[in-house]
Amino acid sequence: MEGNYQQLIEFISEGSGVSVSEIERKIEAKRAKLAGLISKEGAAQVIAAELNVNFDKQIIKLSQIVPGMRKINLIGKIINLFPVREYTKNGRSGRVASFVLADDTSNTRVVLWDENHIDLIAKGQITNESVVEITNSSVRNGEIHLSSFSEIKLSNKPMENIVVERPVFEKTIVNFNSNDKVSARAFVVRMFEPRFFEVCPECRRKVSEVGECQEHGKVAPEKRALLNFIMDDGTDSIRSVIFSDVLEKIMSKEELENQELFAVKKKDFLGKEMIVTGQVRKNSMFDNNEFVVEDIGEVDIDKLIEKLEK
Ligand SMILES: [Zn+2]
Repeated sequence: MEGNYQQLIEFISEGSGVSVSEIERKIEAKRAKLAGLISKEGAAQVIAAELNVNFDKQIIKLSQIVPGMRKINLIGKIINLFPVREYTKNGRSGRVASFVLADDTSNTRVVLWDENHIDLIAKGQITNESVVEITNSSVRNGEIHLSSFSEIKLSNKPMENIVVERPVFEKTIVNFNSNDKVSARAFVVRMFEPRFFEVCPECRRKVSEVGECQEHGKVAPEKRALLNFIMDDGTDSIRSVIFSDVLEKIMSKEELENQELFAVKKKDFLGKEMIVTGQVRKNSMFDNNEFVVEDIGEVDIDKLIEKLEK
């Protein structure tokens, strides 16, 4: 449960020589003092500072990163390098580069904003499969960001057993952070009407109103559905979205398209506890998190008991 929070506490314990249980007690005391206005992760950062645990001099594992961390150092292998992108924002234009960095605990997207860093990628000095050392980076929305105060350079440290798949952590909704890949047990408390849209059969991207794909031109579009609902696990609730492929696991095409059948199905789901796995995403329009469901199933009581007994 809450894998990275636990690892952060262990990290603080190692760096300070104070026991894990004592650190947990300090964190709870700090939160109580601040009337719960600070998250557990935030309180852990404050305790780390009070105990003089410095993230600056140590290499952090990717599974240990939590929102708000600053001045952190990492070593990892680039497993997916994205093309350098140009952007224009508020009349200013610039470039941004990103890649997925992996170590032996996890993998995370890394975003570069500094022209000198971006040049290393544009000129092919840093490529896919490069092992890189990053210093003085910070965590934003679950991603690692490098500013002009950060450094990135090639490393000849051997990287073994790197984690290519994104590990899934079990979390309660109140602890969801954007870009988390998480699994949770929650009740469906609201369900909205399904919405339909058309995609290109080749690349699965949305087509224009006249059925044209930006890349593949005029195509015979495929009809797809999405369903929004709200999940609540008692700690918090989150707006969730589920798309066609996954949606078909719990609802047939007929049930989605026929209003009466849908109404029956909806009634069936309301108040039902489900196990969901997916990705937490920041919805920038509403400035809140939403959950993109990648797998959904009913709670299997037998399996749950088996797991609890272990
Ligand atoms: Zn297409």
